[in-house]
Amino acid sequence: MIIDQHQRIHSYLRISLIERCNLRCTYCMPEEGIPLLPKSHIMQNEEIVGISKEYVKLGVTKIRLTGGEPLMRKGLDDILEGLQALNVDLGMTTNAILLDKHWDLLKRTGCTKINISLDSLVAEKMNALSRRNKFDIIMKNILETIKRGFEVKINVVLLKGTNDNEIVDFIEWGRHLPITVRFIEFMPFSGNKWDWKENGVSLQDVLSKATTHFGKDEIERVEDAPNDVSKNYRIKGSIGKFAVIATVSNPFCDTCNRMRLTADGKMKNCLFSKSETDVLKAFRAGEDIQKVIRDGVWNKKDVRAGMTNFEDFSDPAQNQENRSMIRIGG
Ligand code: SAM
Ligand code: SF4
Repeated sequence: MIIDQHQRIHSYLRISLIERCNLRCTYCMPEEGIPLLPKSHIMQNEEIVGISKEYVKLGVTKIRLTGGEPLMRKGLDDILEGLQALNVDLGMTTNAILLDKHWDLLKRTGCTKINISLDSLVAEKMNALSRRNKFDIIMKNILETIKRGFEVKINVVLLKGTNDNEIVDFIEWGRHLPITVRFIEFMPFSGNKWDWKENGVSLQDVLSKATTHFGKDEIERVEDAPNDVSKNYRIKGSIGKFAVIATVSNPFCDTCNRMRLTADGKMKNCLFSKSETDVLKAFRAGEDIQKVIRDGVWNKKDVRAGMTNFEDFSDPAQNQENRSMIRIGG
C-alpha cells in the first residue's frame, strides 16, 4: 500500500507521456514555449510499463495518461498494450486533435475514459486561447468520440472575461449529451500569469450563473464518486452532467489518492509539490523503486503542497516554485 502520514491511501497514478504539445493554451504553456529535455531524460516505452507495474504491485488500480499531448507520443500502442496487461482502470486526458487516428487502439486496449479539453464553444475564442486553429477538428472528434461509446468528460478551464460568459452555453450543450462538462478553476503554475482577482472564476460563480439561468429547483446535486475531485450537478431531466473542480476556492485534499509521474520520470506526490522523487533514476539503477515510491508519498503535505490557505497559495514566491503545467501533466 502507498500511504502518507495523513493516512491517505494512494491508488491513482497519472503519467505524463510527453512534454510536447500541438496546442499552446495560454494557461498551460508559457508564451515563449519550454526548453525540451533531451530524449535520454524521457521515460522509454518499456520503462513506463515497468515502473507502472511496480505501482500496481503497491495497490494502484487506476492510471490516466496525460502530457503535453499524449496522443503525440511515439510508441503509444506499446505503452497502452503494456498497461492493459496490468488490469487497471485506464484513461487519457487529451486535446482531441489526434483522436480520430487512435479510436481503434484506445478501444482495443480498454482506454475508454477520455477527458477532453475544450475551453470555448466559439471557434475564434478557442483558437485564440490555444494559439492554434484547431477548433473544427477538436469539435468533430469530440462528437465522434461520444458517438463511439467512449466515456467522455469535457474539461473547461474558466478565465474571467474570456469564457465565463459561456458557462450556461456549456451546460446547455452538455446536458443533451452523455458526458460531464467539468469547469476547472484556473490554477497557478510557473509562467502562466495567474492572477485570481483578475482571471479567477470560482465554484460559487459557476453555481450562481447556473442558478440565475436555470432556477435553483432545476439544479440537482449528483453524488460524487469516491475520491472524485469534482462536485457534480445535473439540470433535472438531462442526460449530461456538469461539475466544478474547485482547487483554488475549495480544495479537496483530504480525500486525495493521486500521484503524478512526469515524462522524465519524476514523481510529484501533489500537483503543486516543489519536491520531486526521481523514480526513473532509481529504476535505471536497478534499485527497489517500491521503497522510493513509498518514501516519496509518505512526506506528502496535507493540503496543496503546504500552501494551506489562500494567501500562501496566491503568493508567487510559493506557487511559481513549480514546473509549468505542460511539464507536469494535469
Ligand atoms: N493536452 C491534454 C489536454 O489538454 O487535455 C493533456 C494535458 S493538459 C496539461 C491536462 C489538463 O490540465 C487539461 O484539461 C487542461 O485544461 C488542464 N490545465 C492546464 N493548465 C491548467 C491551469 N493552469 N489551471 C487549471 N487547469 C489546467
Ligand atoms: Fe497542450 Fe493540453 Fe497544455 Fe493545451 S492544456 S497546451 S492542449 S498540454
